[in-house]
Amino acid sequence: MRARQFEQLLQRLCSLTRRQRTRLLALLQSAAGLDRALDVIEPAGVLPICPHCQASKPYRHGHAHGLQRYRCRACSRTFNALSGTPLARLRHKARWLDYLDGMLDSRSVRRAAGQVGVASATSFRWRHRFLGLAKDDRPAKLEGIAEADEMYVLESHKGSRSLQRPPRRRGGKATKRGISREQMCILVARDRSGQTIDAVTGKGALTKQHLIDHLGARLQADVLLVTDSHAAYPAFAREQGISHEAVNPGAGVRTCGALHIQNVNAYHSRMRAWLLPFRGVASRYLSHYFGWRWALDGQRIASPEALLRVALGRFNT
Ligand SMILES: [Zn+2]
Repeated sequence: MRARQFEQLLQRLCSLTRRQRTRLLALLQSAAGLDRALDVIEPAGVLPICPHCQASKPYRHGHAHGLQRYRCRACSRTFNALSGTPLARLRHKARWLDYLDGMLDSRSVRRAAGQVGVASATSFRWRHRFLGLAKDDRPAKLEGIAEADEMYVLESHKGSRSLQRPPRRRGGKATKRGISREQMCILVARDRSGQTIDAVTGKGALTKQHLIDHLGARLQADVLLVTDSHAAYPAFAREQGISHEAVNPGAGVRTCGALHIQNVNAYHSRMRAWLLPFRGVASRYLSHYFGWRWALDGQRIASPEALLRVALGRFNT
């Protein structure tokens, strides 16, 4: 719109009724939400890399779905800044940041849906699309003193159409005592600077191989690993050539100087308390919830824009 026409439009806005002003305001707020989201999706001066062949410096090639479209110089295919991410083709971008704000507030699927005006099914889909990459935003390595301990939650097929056993009542109990294949094991390791890594290792008890797979490459060579007396830890530490101390929290000696696993156990407790309102999490989404929790830990991710960046896989920016 030309400057003069715009001035005329502004003049005319003075004669709006109250109801019209409210409608106009809603429209402008939505447009502002879209602009804020686009500032993150398409940061100024940054050309995306081709998701098909990883070539850089694409041509600009018109617009589609409200996004700049590009054509690759190498493979000639077209794409936009969301192509190849879990957010490609997700609609209503104007509402994304409000939705992500709700995730920073740990809102339930239904409450989040109501607050941004989408269906519950959409709210559920968005949650897991946003967490698909965000769950991998983890520290590269733990250093200094690193505590590790495993926690278990009952396996859950919530939302699944093919259940292999009679359904359990919500918050049910395992039929076998102790650790069994009914429990999902989650390994959590946290160093004294608060950096945290966790991994859903699968059904049943923790093994040395789980530790190699999930922790092997994630500890600095000079780390001191502190754990409980589970036999998998010393076997793992020996094989990796790292220092290890076992403490026995069950034996009445809760701490041995700096050597304890209270930080990681406190993380477990916070995680369990935080999970409660979700009323059971399907096992296949556990890693998403652990990633979500890590985003919230100590307000590590403090704004919806920052959460959108990690949802796009742009860590450390
Ligand atoms: Zn290409």
